[in-house]
Amino acid sequence: MIRVALLGASGSIGAAALDLARAYRDRIRLVSLAARKSHAPILRAAEEFGVRRIALVDPAAAARARATWKGGAVLEGDQALVELAEDEDADVVVNAVVGSIGLAPTVAALERGKRVALANKESVVLAGELLTEIARRSGGLMLPVDSEHSGVFQCLGSFSVRDVRRVTLTASGGPFLRRDPKTIQDSTPEEVLEHPTWSMGERITVDCATLMNKGFELIEARWLFGLEPDRLNVLIHPQSIVHALVEFIDGSVVAQLSVPDMRLPLLYAISYPERWCSALPRLDLVDFATLTFEPPDPVRCPGLSLARRALVAGSTAPAVLNAADEEAVRLFLNRRIRFGDLIPIVEEVLNAHRPAGALTLDSIRDADRWARARLKEAAAHVIRG
Ligand code: MG
Repeated sequence: MIRVALLGASGSIGAAALDLARAYRDRIRLVSLAARKSHAPILRAAEEFGVRRIALVDPAAAARARATWKGGAVLEGDQALVELAEDEDADVVVNAVVGSIGLAPTVAALERGKRVALANKESVVLAGELLTEIARRSGGLMLPVDSEHSGVFQCLGSFSVRDVRRVTLTASGGPFLRRDPKTIQDSTPEEVLEHPTWSMGERITVDCATLMNKGFELIEARWLFGLEPDRLNVLIHPQSIVHALVEFIDGSVVAQLSVPDMRLPLLYAISYPERWCSALPRLDLVDFATLTFEPPDPVRCPGLSLARRALVAGSTAPAVLNAADEEAVRLFLNRRIRFGDLIPIVEEVLNAHRPAGALTLDSIRDADRWARARLKEAAAHVIRG
């Protein structure tokens, strides 16, 4: 029995995790559930799986949960995520929390030598260097839930990273792949949220349209696999069937393919090093007459080049990029700025940033705060109404 703490149980990854817990009742036991404030789905899941500890970050939501649910303990606040992550009853922490609030539970679980099935991108984008150090010391393990990184992880198998020439992450290209870049500047949130192949949260879907998400994934790959920036590459692959390719120094290329379904990488992060028989949709290549690949067009993918700059700069630059982007995406979703203004104001913040040198949790927090304030200044001259 693998005992799982599920942080971020109410989002799309959370739903996938509950699905797996349902399919593998004899192998996965949920010991705790956490969400930011959606208490209703958490309570339903707690009832269904007999979970006795839940956490809600929002105190008002926690109070509502306590009023209706007598089945166990309801923790509250940011610290509750850390408590569940450290819990001795959990072997694997599935971290599917959205945002930088996910970093502290990742740190806590790794320090206890646990396995973290990591869907919280911010953990690695903000603090990848620190997390790899902690994992090395404690024997903890970070396993990717992101499809591309799971793909890389599976391609690498037992091979040595020393023998890797280049790793390629694929990108669907988002909803604007074939549109004239001039015509997308005034796109509405509705148009941007129409993702062709994956169904995900709102921020990540906007980040897919600018390819900022793929840029964050380059930063993640840097730390998850210990690969320098010049060995990391992106290809546009609209069908989202090939998730990653690893080219070795002898010229051989290993690729990982599957239908786009988040449950698969999540399953492997839980079952690893085993593989469990699953009823997930199977890939039949005959259904796909063609699989196509093309280099990203820098004009259409401004977020990607910006993220590469933050990757090379290192230190607190990725934290600044993440915070500025999160604020800019929120302004866009609230219709305060045009889609076309999103990346330029993030770029303005990154340009103004002086990396802090040695990376610590404090320097990350300071950089995050600074970037959010600086983004508001940058947005002031493009904001509407
Ligand atoms: Mg991805």
